[in-house]
Amino acid sequence: MIETFYDIFIVGGGINGCGIARDAVGRGYSVALAEMNDLASGTSSWSTKLIHGGLRYLEHYEFRLVREALMEREVLWAAAPHIIQPMRFVLPHHAGMRPAWLLRLGLFLYDHIGGRKKLPATKVLDLRTDAAGEPLKPQFAKAFEYSDCWVNDARLVVLNARDAADRGARIMTHAKVVSARRISGGWQIGVEKDGQIEMVRARLLVNAAGPWVDAFINQALGENGKKVRLVQGSHIVVRKKFNHERAYFFQNDDGRIFFAIPYEGDLTLIGTTDHDWTGDPAKVAISDEEIDYLCAGASEYFREPVQKLDIVWTYSGVRPLYDDGASKAQEATRDYVLKTETAGGGAPLINIFGGKITTYRRLAESVLVEIAKTIGAKAKPWTAGVALPGGDFAVDGFDQLAGEILFQWPFLGAAHATRLARLYGTKAKEILAGTKDAAGLGMLFGADLYEAEVRWLMRREWAQSADDVLWRRTKLGLRLSVEQAATLDAWMKAQTVPVS
Ligand code: FAD
Repeated sequence: MIETFYDIFIVGGGINGCGIARDAVGRGYSVALAEMNDLASGTSSWSTKLIHGGLRYLEHYEFRLVREALMEREVLWAAAPHIIQPMRFVLPHHAGMRPAWLLRLGLFLYDHIGGRKKLPATKVLDLRTDAAGEPLKPQFAKAFEYSDCWVNDARLVVLNARDAADRGARIMTHAKVVSARRISGGWQIGVEKDGQIEMVRARLLVNAAGPWVDAFINQALGENGKKVRLVQGSHIVVRKKFNHERAYFFQNDDGRIFFAIPYEGDLTLIGTTDHDWTGDPAKVAISDEEIDYLCAGASEYFREPVQKLDIVWTYSGVRPLYDDGASKAQEATRDYVLKTETAGGGAPLINIFGGKITTYRRLAESVLVEIAKTIGAKAKPWTAGVALPGGDFAVDGFDQLAGEILFQWPFLGAAHATRLARLYGTKAKEILAGTKDAAGLGMLFGADLYEAEVRWLMRREWAQSADDVLWRRTKLGLRLSVEQAATLDAWMKAQTVPVS
């Protein structure tokens, strides 16, 4: 059998792998990507979900990273205004912690080094009169309010994969790369899917395996890689702690910071933690100590304490950071590091360490520079200013889009129309096309999840199981019962819906 030959083969369907696939195929390279589970099933769906400069990285003098990340906020917001929204962050001044002048200096830099155009500037709040002070203890009298953005992280990954596929990339899910060896003129790669091994060839291999980056070097390539530092971060989701749309940036007495963010309408997301992780990245889970730490930290600020009883969901992920030898996990660099190897003139391998959701597009551009150096250049950078699927509307056009959807499909009701617009942007109209009433949407699985949406997710977004739909393409896992999720899973397993 003749093996398919690609210019570039990418291991890993997280934000970095999918971002590179999109950029590379758009420049004219032939591209294939293999993800061993579902898209975004690794670290990329377990983040704090911020498109942010990272105010605290200024303390570690990571000016390059902060500047690049700040500049990306408005670029990404414009490309995907359905899944990315500006958010204001309230940073209360705490007498025992960083002095006000230091916060003011950090926020001055934050406002000025990152090419901010549309996001509003920092301002000072009087918490005794501002609504942001209401849920907080009375000793917090003053705060700074600054801008960053919020992102639906898992959907950002899938939209990059979808766009890459629309431009001609081959995206394989539930496909594990089990071997890779250099042959004359490139790589021979073994991909295991459904118990079968498919052999493919590529001129260049990109290792975007996230927390498994070293494991891939060790297992598939038979080399000795030890460059990643795995750092666990966990979040708790609790019943809503406040009634406004701003988030809080809190400082803890150990010098760390954490966020309390409005989440899914009636919930608050609190996190994160920072601990070295030495086990299997797939087995990471929140510990009792982390739960106590987050509850205690938030209770230092909120009038009404945050208790274990309030918790409705938790999640944990592993940051695949470059091991720069920092002593504390929280001090390890969040910047990305690319290591290109050619084994003395052989086929190139690009290993990716670290990075943020925020900087994935710039990381992809840097990888494309390495690709051009090794296998030759194609087109110029193009992704800034090009909308992701469903994001082809103005950054201030969300209410209009949700209104149009409700006007055309009034039987949905406002909440359902808004949910679809928020997740799918203009593509929501594709899901609803041809329907005239709720019956036209097919079977109802629970909450407002109908067959039409699930079928579309199977056909267009590689969804194969209830988990894919309920926890990554949507967050309806928070709304459906265990029985409803099982019914959905069984129904999906019984369907044959090819991805197209
Ligand atoms: P992953 O998303 O893990 O993707 C790697 C993929 O490779 C996985 O899906 C895995 O299944 C696949 N894979 C591995 N081996 C193989 C193989 N052999 N064959 C096929 N597939 C394979 N960043 C921000 O910008 N903002 C934030 O607010 C933020 N908060 C964070 C909070 C926490 C707690 C954590 C942990 C991270 C946070 N980050 C944040 C960082 C960000 O989430 C990560 O840097 C980013 O998701 C890493 O993406 P990735 O593609 O490198 O890795």
